[in-house]
Amino acid sequence: MLLGNEMEIEMNYIVFDLEWNQPWNKPAPGTLGNEVIQIGAVKVDESAKPVAEFDRMIRPVHHKKLHPYVKKLTGLRSADVARGGSFHEAVSDFRAWCGEEACFVTWGGEDVPVLKNHLSFCGLADDWLDPWIDLQRIFASQAGLGRQQKSLQFALEYFGMEQEKTFHDACNDARYTAQIMARLDMARGLAEYESLIAPEPKPGLRVMKTLTGLATRRDALRHEEVSQMLCPDCGALLDESRPWLSQPGRRYMRVVRCGEHGEFLERLKMTKTADGCLDATAMLFDAQEESLALYDRRAASRDEKRRARRANRPKPEQPRQ
Ligand SMILES: [Zn+2]
Repeated sequence: MLLGNEMEIEMNYIVFDLEWNQPWNKPAPGTLGNEVIQIGAVKVDESAKPVAEFDRMIRPVHHKKLHPYVKKLTGLRSADVARGGSFHEAVSDFRAWCGEEACFVTWGGEDVPVLKNHLSFCGLADDWLDPWIDLQRIFASQAGLGRQQKSLQFALEYFGMEQEKTFHDACNDARYTAQIMARLDMARGLAEYESLIAPEPKPGLRVMKTLTGLATRRDALRHEEVSQMLCPDCGALLDESRPWLSQPGRRYMRVVRCGEHGEFLERLKMTKTADGCLDATAMLFDAQEESLALYDRRAASRDEKRRARRANRPKPEQPRQ
């Protein structure tokens, strides 16, 4: 990086990966969701050459027993992480090791939000993790895969690279990510990055609203921002007499109607956040023939299933005469 006085400052990339334990049950409000149990990182210079490594196991204090899924994924046992250091110590050492001029690089968009959530839960600063880059996006774009999210393993296979280290160990995954980074055109990736992460334009989209921190799906469906959409052409309250239909992946759709401007398609998509709450995006689209027909078909098949269930229900016994 060249500054005004033409003195060259080393810019380091901190390629890192986390492992975390997840709560066994839906976390109660005010408790920690995912708890970081390992930080693995590789420091690389501007020519993508690795110059140092960081690896730290962290003793969980909120969810001490490893979730079966986490055990299976990482091969760790509760006894392994119990020997780790404290989260405070690990992040303080990690931050010092990263240095001031750092740009963080991860595979996928989850690691930074999970670490930030854990930090802010502990009352620690989290702004030092900016800026950060999701290398998965740059890989997908340069491999001609558009916006597909591919695993580290996929990317290694794509480049014909060796996979002798086990996956889902934070340090190994960070090493793999750094190796993939070395194969990518980072100058181009960084120049294009904003457009790679920008939301895709959606044809026919008229209104988009985001809701955060919801407890249940019902809260989202009944939220007034969602249930009282206004006509984008005249501002009238839209008729919402037709039911929400659920679709796979926490998605819902329904047809709403303005007396003057006709039908619109409302879509609601929910995502689970690191702290176990729900964020929701409500979108209102111009109704296309195709989407109206799809809604009608789904509504009809739902009614059909309901009728069938009712028919199968045992009839109440008739009182004997
Ligand atoms: Zn209208």
